[in-house]
Amino acid sequence: MTEHEPEDDVPTSVPAAGDRRRFPAPAHLVFFHGPMDCGKSTLALQVDHNQSRQGRHGLLLTQGDRSGSPRISSRVGLSQDAEEIGAGTDLRLLVRSRWADGQRVDYLIVDEAQFLDPAQVDQLAELVDEWHVDVYAFGLTTDFRSRLFPGTQRLLEVADTVERVQVQVLCWCGLPARLNARVVDGVMVREGATVVVADTAPPPVPGTGEAGAVRYQVLCRRHYVRGELGPTAAGPGQLALP
Ligand SMILES: [Zn+2]
Repeated sequence: MTEHEPEDDVPTSVPAAGDRRRFPAPAHLVFFHGPMDCGKSTLALQVDHNQSRQGRHGLLLTQGDRSGSPRISSRVGLSQDAEEIGAGTDLRLLVRSRWADGQRVDYLIVDEAQFLDPAQVDQLAELVDEWHVDVYAFGLTTDFRSRLFPGTQRLLEVADTVERVQVQVLCWCGLPARLNARVVDGVMVREGATVVVADTAPPPVPGTGEAGAVRYQVLCRRHYVRGELGPTAAGPGQLALP
């Protein structure tokens, strides 16, 4: 074991995979959350950069990345290769298979963490506690119904540290925006397939960024409750309700 540098942010030097359990170096499960467009993926890449600069080795995971290939990509143009995981992926086995291949994994970056199954969040906690892998998870707080995603809820329940991403997203009115509205043909919808405005709009297609049909818009609570999308969306001050 080597002493780490005083200015080193890393808690301790990182032993080889097989030695991990003998050194009780504390690891942490950290969860960053916020609305769409708040810069979560950008922050994920920044954390990865900071960690790798310390000589640590990370594994980047994502689900349903908007670029369509397994990468963590941010809307300001940065991106990194990542591994695509699914609801059935056992994250403990994933990390152990990397170790078996001789690859170091000191930390995980998990983007789109709202899509994790709650059981996968528990797997992350186990990796932290039993295998001393640091986990940095990034995800949306709530879905378009303003309810916590299951993965987000579990992370809020078990993470060591929870941080609301501080980059402020603004509603069209200028107030801080925290709620993700799903908009189908220019109209906000609040429940799964139940479209707010009668029977004219098609059922929403979850997770698609299709232009025209379904889009997402971040709103303040007041305008989310009122379903007002702003002057550019549905005409000035108009509520698109019958
Ligand atoms: Zn507003």
